[in-house]
Amino acid sequence: MTRPIFAPSKKNHPPLRRLANFVLLSLALAFSTGEVRAQSRTIVVDAGHGGHDRGGVPRQRVGEKGLTLDVSQRLRRVLEAGGYRVIMTRNSDVFVSLGQRVAIANSHPGATFVSVHFNSAPRVGANGIETYYYRRDSASLAANIHRNVVAGAPSENRGIRRRGYYVLRRTRIPGVLVECGFLTNPMEARYALNPSYRQKLAEEIARGIRGVRAPMGRPLARGSASSSEVLPQPFSGPDFVRATPRSRRSARSSKSKKKKKSSSSKRKRSSSGKKKKSSSVQRVQILGA
Ligand SMILES: [Zn+2]
Repeated sequence: MTRPIFAPSKKNHPPLRRLANFVLLSLALAFSTGEVRAQSRTIVVDAGHGGHDRGGVPRQRVGEKGLTLDVSQRLRRVLEAGGYRVIMTRNSDVFVSLGQRVAIANSHPGATFVSVHFNSAPRVGANGIETYYYRRDSASLAANIHRNVVAGAPSENRGIRRRGYYVLRRTRIPGVLVECGFLTNPMEARYALNPSYRQKLAEEIARGIRGVRAPMGRPLARGSASSSEVLPQPFSGPDFVRATPRSRRSARSSKSKKKKKSSSSKRKRSSSGKKKKSSSVQRVQILGA
């Protein structure tokens, strides 16, 4: 009769056992308390846009500013129920400048900043969740929020992107900006208009803030594998969008050169859909990238 492999045996070496226990305990700790959790108990929740700044693209049927406020207020309630202190950059339909948002965030030095947005694009087919961060200490939080939201959404995974949006670049606390789907996409707009879906979004974002790990689900959407719009990322992972390598970028620009280097930093407003998936995404909201 064979003995089960894991049956306790007097012959087991105690030091080895202790080592195994230590490893298991360390792993358990890493997974339960993980460094991905927002380190503070104060969260600055930033509802995108407001007042005369409606967000989205001109003539967009489903407006952005009301939905970002609604999700943010739901997020506030979920977080407060979990014992967090929540500061809102706006709590009604008012205009708050980017500078004011940053000032509010920076007046809470121990806090974490979470900005809530919805996306828009001229191409109605564009859909999916994307999450941005800028500071290195925010990458794991971005990943955690992103994976939870993607796990709970029927949308494509457009990846985690490092980008210097004003509110992420100028805040002196860890910060993440999550784009909860495209309001210009009929299916995602329909979801976003559903209060119970917005509640789900809020709960998934809160789960990410609390440090709950989501399974790595959907792979990156096609066309998101690398992008000239993102900055080089200090981290890698299957859902971190890679920056287009410099060599490819410069090769591309030298092909289409002789135009001197005038316009490369400004995003063109003309790309009439089709061409490149991710670069056709335009935001009218002035995020100050
Ligand atoms: Zn927005």
